[in-house]
Parts: sequence; structure tokens; C-alpha cells
Amino acid sequence: MYNYTLTTDFDRKNLIQKALDNISHAYAPYSHFHVSAAVLMSDGKVYTGVNVENASYPAGICAERNAIFHAIAQDKAAKLVAVAIVGGADGKIQDYCAPCGVCRQVMREFGNPQEITVIMAKSTTDYQEMTLGELLPMSFGPEFLT
Ligand SMILES: [Zn+2]
Repeated sequence: MYNYTLTTDFDRKNLIQKALDNISHAYAPYSHFHVSAAVLMSDGKVYTGVNVENASYPAGICAERNAIFHAIAQDKAAKLVAVAIVGGADGKIQDYCAPCGVCRQVMREFGNPQEITVIMAKSTTDYQEMTLGELLPMSFGPEFLT
């Protein structure tokens, strides 16, 4: 039930497409930098999120955390398998959008960093892929507190 892995190109393209489909929902009236993310969980389900800014700037949240928290709110036993991220000024995707440090740490909470795939995409055929372990080496995680 919780053993879904990222194995096929279809999974990658599907995840990227879901992120692309949602970028118009980003609420970024201050930075104008729109971001959308889609996460694949170990039960095979996909959740999406966009960045949601706030007039009180620190109250806003990134697309990646929005998607992950949505997934965990549905099933806290599921682990993070992969994240696809797209973003750009005014929603125009011109470069690969990397996750911020806070989002990397939140990803670290919900899976093995060597097994979580982070896909930074311009399109379904143009993307860079790294493990969370590569993006967040020597990280602090839940096993330190047990
Ligand atoms: Zn972030």
C-alpha cells in the first residue's frame, strides 16, 4: 500500500504536468514569482500546491510545503516519493526552479533523502532531477530525536 516508487517516465511527466496545470492558481501579488508543485506519495496519490503569499510577508507559504502539508493532512503515514516544481516570474517558466532551504528541510521529514526525487522542470520534457540527499547533504532529520 505504501510502496509506490517513481519508476516510469509516465510518473515524471504526469507529476510535472500536474504542477504545470496548477501554476495559474499561485497567489503571488508581492513577489510576482509564481510557483507550483506536485508531490507523489508512497500510496501512489498525487497532491498539488502553489505559493500563497500574504501582506504580512512571513505568513506566506511555498508551493512545495503547501503540497506536502496537504498530502500529510490526508494521510500522515504516507512517505514522500517525488516532488515536481515549476516556477517563474508572472508564471512564465524560463528556468529550473529549485526548492528553498525550508522546503528541503520539510521534505527531509517525510522520507529517506537518498530516495526522494526532486524534479525541477521547465516542461514535461525539459527537467533536472536530483535526490533530496544531493540538495540537502548532512541533514538533520527525525531519527536524531528518537
Ligand atoms: Zn520553499
